[in-house]
Amino acid sequence: MQKVLLLDKHNHPINICTWKRALVLIMKGKAENARRLNDIESMIKVENVLIPRVIKLTYDLAVQYKELPFCRENILVRDEFVCQYCGEKFNASELTLDHVYPKSRLGPDIWENIVACCKDCNQKKADRTPKEARMKLLRRPYRPKDYLKFEIKKYPENVVKYWLEYFEAS
Ligand SMILES: [Zn+2]
Repeated sequence: MQKVLLLDKHNHPINICTWKRALVLIMKGKAENARRLNDIESMIKVENVLIPRVIKLTYDLAVQYKELPFCRENILVRDEFVCQYCGEKFNASELTLDHVYPKSRLGPDIWENIVACCKDCNQKKADRTPKEARMKLLRRPYRPKDYLKFEIKKYPENVVKYWLEYFEAS
């Protein structure tokens, strides 16, 4: 389903919603098109209705910022589907998750200790630390901070191109 970026009254991104939700917010007067009215190209066409790709709330709202779920999909997205040891890009199904400090030695399940890893590298590294295995990490694993900035990585470029400017501004 087509998605719409929702901004608060001050043009800061606060959520991504479905076009249906966007339409309801607009019809109730709770949100409006955030972009130029004549920017038809950027709109989503559903039957005979044009829905903006970016809408903004018409009222002030105290926003609660969400914590990014710690899960396999989000780790792969953070690492851009690149094995953090050999640097090659893979499909999700070809990637495993590696505990940098081995799980067998009680390495924790946290953002800072888990990386995307191809099957070959995982097998090669086995139950060793990168140093012991003489395998270098491309970069230190980290916990992503901005939930929404992270979420938009999952959307296609032709959608995200209308959203990016709001992230750079905030
Ligand atoms: Zn690899």
